[in-house]
Amino acid sequence: LSEKLNNVFKKLKSRGKLTESDVKEAMREVRLALLEADVSYKVVKDFVKSVTERAVGEEVLASLTPAQQVIKIVNEELVSLMGNSNARINMASKPPTVIMMCGLQGSGKTTHAAKLAKLLKKEGHRPLLAACDIYRPAAINQLQVVGGKADVKVFEMGQTDPVVIAKKALSYAKDYGHDILIIDTAGRLHIDEALMDELVNIKKETQPDEIMLVVDAMTGQDAVNVAKAFDDAVGITGVLMSKLDSDTRGGAALSVLSVTGKPIKFVGMGEKLDDFEQFHPERMASRILGMGDVLTLIEKAENVMTQKDAEKLTKKFKENKFDMDDLLDQMKQIKRMGSMKSILSMLPGVGDKIKEADIDEGQLGRIEAMITSMTKEERSKPSIINPSRKKRIANGSGTKVEDVNRLLKQFDQMQKVMKQFTGKNNKMSLRKARKQL
Ligand code: GDP
Ligand code: MG
Repeated sequence: LSEKLNNVFKKLKSRGKLTESDVKEAMREVRLALLEADVSYKVVKDFVKSVTERAVGEEVLASLTPAQQVIKIVNEELVSLMGNSNARINMASKPPTVIMMCGLQGSGKTTHAAKLAKLLKKEGHRPLLAACDIYRPAAINQLQVVGGKADVKVFEMGQTDPVVIAKKALSYAKDYGHDILIIDTAGRLHIDEALMDELVNIKKETQPDEIMLVVDAMTGQDAVNVAKAFDDAVGITGVLMSKLDSDTRGGAALSVLSVTGKPIKFVGMGEKLDDFEQFHPERMASRILGMGDVLTLIEKAENVMTQKDAEKLTKKFKENKFDMDDLLDQMKQIKRMGSMKSILSMLPGVGDKIKEADIDEGQLGRIEAMITSMTKEERSKPSIINPSRKKRIANGSGTKVEDVNRLLKQFDQMQKVMKQFTGKNNKMSLRKARKQL
């Protein structure tokens, strides 16, 4: 174990309040992760600063290391940056609800108009799609194709004035009992006045309850600029981030809310109509954090005991003094990893690693309960635990006598393993012993 690592672990072990250096160290990794996730430099800088201010001096939860505590705070702040609650579509108090899709050309408006229609249909609505992109000849046809896949009616009038189409579609929806009208509009390659004017006019005529801006996640920070421009010119109510399935970091998602004040409500995860979900700020936060090396500190803490702990344990092993109390200590250590597991499991990339170190938290809890139900004497000398004591322990811990038996057997095996390597007091054996638990 290198000197440097040792120092890190010493720091990780200490409890109390978060010090500036705890926070600084963890924030260095966070900063990298954010930049790698394509979050804009300024946002990163402001974020790191505000989180550092919040974190220094904060109490470290007993179940967390300082580094974990910092990550926990970072995670919470990321989530709140993106909007804490899962935002829903604004529904009209008096149907039909009008949803206007807007965005640049190719951002995914037509695809997502159909995805949204399909989702709403599944929820029991009767949506109607309106084809208001009349500039590209294939656009109407495209909407009909995807509308057909979603089994949703498409209202179209060919190459007529889009404002007129939108208006007519609205009265059609009213006449034919569609409680939701989704208007697919045209886009341009760049933001231009003609496009904005058209959208403003459609807005005036249909009074949408939801103006959903579709932004392409692959465009990174540009997506944020686009959102700002549309919000300034047309006024949006929500953002749909498309193409998050492509090799993209999604860092733009972080700034959308703070720049426009409008939440991301949905994300597109592919070309198929079902590749669509509500936006979950927590998941995005995990995804962004998973980008960098933020979690390596935690992983290291998981794999290695501090030197001091190791020495203490080895001594006990040697003297054959390892008892149930020591086992309980070990359990607690492993349980700390359990809470770490819940942090880790949110991240896509670390799924496999977690499987390896899979921890049955319920099982650990039961073992802990059983040991705490033992008397001091029983803990240091488990051999005295006879059937009536077993029954008492099982009752006291809410487990069964079989569970107590299993624990005692495991403990017995463990002591045998310990005897095998007494003398070879290296860490490898220690780890092996723990594995056999
Ligand atoms: P529009 O011009 O804004 O109407 O955009 P389209 O809906 O026509 O989408 C443009 C292209 O992006 C099409 O080829 C879509 O299949 C594709 N696309 C749309 N949404 C997604 C998505 O979430 N993921 C992926 N991978 N492709 C998408
Ligand atoms: Mg389109």
